[in-house]
Amino acid sequence: MNIAMFASEALPLSKTGGLADVVYSLSKELSKDKANEVVIFTPYYQNAKISAFPKMKDLGEIAVDLSWRHLHAHLWEGRSGRLRYVLIENAYYFHRPALYGYHDDCERFAFFGNAALAALRFLHFSPDILHVHDWQTGMIPCLLKEKEEYRNDPLFAHTKTVLTIHNPAFKGFIDRYFLADFWGLPDSLYDNGQVRFDNMVSTLKAGIVYADKITTVSPSHRNELLSQASDQRLNGVLALRKDDFEGILNGIDVEEWNPSSDPFIAKTYTAKTWKEGKKANQKALLSTFGLKKGKGPVFAMISRLSWQKGVDLLLESIPPFLQTNSEGTLFILGSGEYALERRVQALRDAYPERVGVYLGYQNALSHQIYAGADFFLMPSLFEPCGISQMIAQRYGTLPIVRYTGGLRDTVDGYDGDITKYADGIGFRDYDVGGLTYGISKANELYHKPLEYAKIVGNALRKDNSWKKSAAAYLRLYEAAIKEE
Ligand code: ADP
Repeated sequence: MNIAMFASEALPLSKTGGLADVVYSLSKELSKDKANEVVIFTPYYQNAKISAFPKMKDLGEIAVDLSWRHLHAHLWEGRSGRLRYVLIENAYYFHRPALYGYHDDCERFAFFGNAALAALRFLHFSPDILHVHDWQTGMIPCLLKEKEEYRNDPLFAHTKTVLTIHNPAFKGFIDRYFLADFWGLPDSLYDNGQVRFDNMVSTLKAGIVYADKITTVSPSHRNELLSQASDQRLNGVLALRKDDFEGILNGIDVEEWNPSSDPFIAKTYTAKTWKEGKKANQKALLSTFGLKKGKGPVFAMISRLSWQKGVDLLLESIPPFLQTNSEGTLFILGSGEYALERRVQALRDAYPERVGVYLGYQNALSHQIYAGADFFLMPSLFEPCGISQMIAQRYGTLPIVRYTGGLRDTVDGYDGDITKYADGIGFRDYDVGGLTYGISKANELYHKPLEYAKIVGNALRKDNSWKKSAAAYLRLYEAAIKEE
């Protein structure tokens, strides 16, 4: 099957969030099957890590019409195994220090979408599936269905479109005037409500209305978006597309995150040798921070320090578990909101022998913490999918999560006796009582060696790979292709 991904960011070239990981990992996994030709179309940003493609090929210049503007794009091709990237270069739109945040972002991604369609024609690449992501490329399914020049083009005669919603908060609002001015589309699409949202045009809504299939990054997040209580206010339009809307969990890169070959950790280990392995890693981690092991477990949080992540709950819930009777230890690696950073430092100052803090982004240290901690804290307010909890499971570090979004779908919580399937700890209420319950369950479990070992074993053996997720996307693609 021919699959074209249109994405505003993709690893290894560019990344601001999970979208870049998903586009890369999903495409890489799909391209492993020789039956699939996968091409990622993405902007050539000023800071794109093109060193990842030492043999970039110059594909030449193409004309791109943005309504009345006659523009140009230069195309470059990079390869990673069987996976192809087509980078779309235009200095005016993309040679800027950041990926987003400019007054003309809507115009920039209108250019990108139009250029990527022109690139498909230039390359004679006829996609069976055109997979678009978030608001930046949400308009493409609408274009293919509404514009005659695409409806009549044999290149797109069999093309089905898929939209993945990674971040529903960004709606891609543009003034109605730009429907014609950027996309060459009639005003009637605004008047009949197809692309209208809050008296503006929303490119994300356009994707939801026009894509053949829609996905988001976990089954629970799908239900949250459909719920009338959803803050995102997409429930109305998504309800109309309910049958074509699926939640597919993201996976993790099981090669990068592998305790049996991880070059960053003190001692590698497997599901058979985790006890000695984690012990050695814990010792190394404690000594890095100059701390001594207490009687209790080692807890950790690796996260953006953002209100979304429940850091404030942690700061209030954890102290009793650090004190004399419990003697737990806590490591926090993260950076973000100033007020939270200060409060994290204050916690360390209050318990200098029990708390280790690193404010900043440190990949190697994150591996060492995943390997050395006993429990991983993720008391998020909301979490469309989340990957840290899956990485923690891969390292036999039991996640303590609030049941929301993807956390609900990836963690089976230990609730005191049933240990058969449990692979972490979960709690429901987003408050100090909820998290205190989660941490006390962890504390209790830690002192029951047989049950603890069973649950760590479940976590270590869990398959959170992209293989499983990519197979789910492939089934969705096949279903789309079969439909008339
Ligand atoms: P989000 O995308 O909302 O930040 P996820 O759980 O989906 O949350 O992904 C977070 C990723 O970023 C994980 O791989 C985590 O290990 C990593 N990470 C977060 N903060 C840091 C940090 N300070 N240093 C190193 N890695 C970090």
